[in-house]
Amino acid sequence: MNAKIAVLAGDGVGREIVPEAVKVLKVVAERHGHTFEFIPGNVGGHAIDKVGVPLPAETLAIAKHSDAVLLGAVGGPKWEGLEYSLRPERALLGLREQLGLYANLRPAKLYPMLADASTLRRDVIEGIDMLVIRELTGGIYFGKPKGIEPLPGGGERGFNTEVYTTEEIRRIAVVAFDAARKRRKKVTSVDKANVLESSELWRRVVTDVHRGYPDVALSHIYVDNCAMQLVRNPRQFDVLLCNNIFGDILSDEAAMLTGSIGMLPSASVGAKVGLFEPIHGSAPDIAGKNIANPIATIASAAMMLSYAFQLDKEAAAIEQAIVKTLELGFRTKDIHAEGMQLVGTVEMGDAIVRNLPS
Ligand code: NAD
Repeated sequence: MNAKIAVLAGDGVGREIVPEAVKVLKVVAERHGHTFEFIPGNVGGHAIDKVGVPLPAETLAIAKHSDAVLLGAVGGPKWEGLEYSLRPERALLGLREQLGLYANLRPAKLYPMLADASTLRRDVIEGIDMLVIRELTGGIYFGKPKGIEPLPGGGERGFNTEVYTTEEIRRIAVVAFDAARKRRKKVTSVDKANVLESSELWRRVVTDVHRGYPDVALSHIYVDNCAMQLVRNPRQFDVLLCNNIFGDILSDEAAMLTGSIGMLPSASVGAKVGLFEPIHGSAPDIAGKNIANPIATIASAAMMLSYAFQLDKEAAAIEQAIVKTLELGFRTKDIHAEGMQLVGTVEMGDAIVRNLPS
């Protein structure tokens, strides 16, 4: 296939890890007979330095006219004093909004050789392989009315509104059931239907969408029980379908089950162009030293192949190469342990390229 990929490296370690993912994608394209065109764009603090805004119109146009966007990270101490609307992080909000990205997908998968990096016991976390799907553009973070208002008798009242429409629930449920079909075909929908009306509708619509997916198993779980089950028996989950606020919290909980932040990819998808990025930030404390772990970004590139281009075989090849590289003992500093071979960002990227199945 031919595909245009917008490459927005951004700031800090973004500028080191994104080239490693591009390196891997180039070799995969060559081996499997695809043509990927990589179109670089300025974003975040880097864009502020060059043209004065975190998301230049040119970058947005590049993203919109691409088939997918690969992003590194944005932000850093240099831009922290700026007014909120000019901060690098605003670029992410702008991209999400402009690309209509309503679903965030975060896999939490344990690489067995890294089990000791988790704070949980090996027997609890071994075999974890789940995908948390979070609704991104609705719910209590955006619902109206919201605000803080004075009370007549003194004091104030702060309020937000949890609101979902049938259509918002339907489209995120479709993402979850479609994703489950690529995996173990099991969706667990998270809600608080015993207390919240918005959750009652959520449960009803998800159940309704499920009728079109008889090959996928659906169960429902209350959010408080889900938070507990994630640390008690996380292996039971395949796809976890969440609204915005529950997904915000549970995706971080799920991520931490597996250990290092440098290993965790993500995808945000919507109507057309999807955005693929590691979950971590620009890590200014380690930037420019060739020590950042590029695996989260390389795994994000694998998600791009699977979710944006339906190239599941090619995505699996990248996953296999990551596993083999770890099995061979290659480790960046963040996941290093005694007896393992300490390598830098570039060397880790090279090793993953070498270990791609031919
Ligand atoms: P961070 O994720 O950048 O770093 C947290 C810790 O994890 C640091 O110790 C860092 O060294 C380590 N780490 C992160 N990525 C790593 C990697 N690939 N390899 C090895 N270690 C890694 O979070 P932070 O320090 O809170 O934020 C730094 C900047 O990034 C801030 O400006 C913040 O706003 C921004 N940020 C951006 C995004 C994004 O672009 N999506 C996300 C979160 C934070």
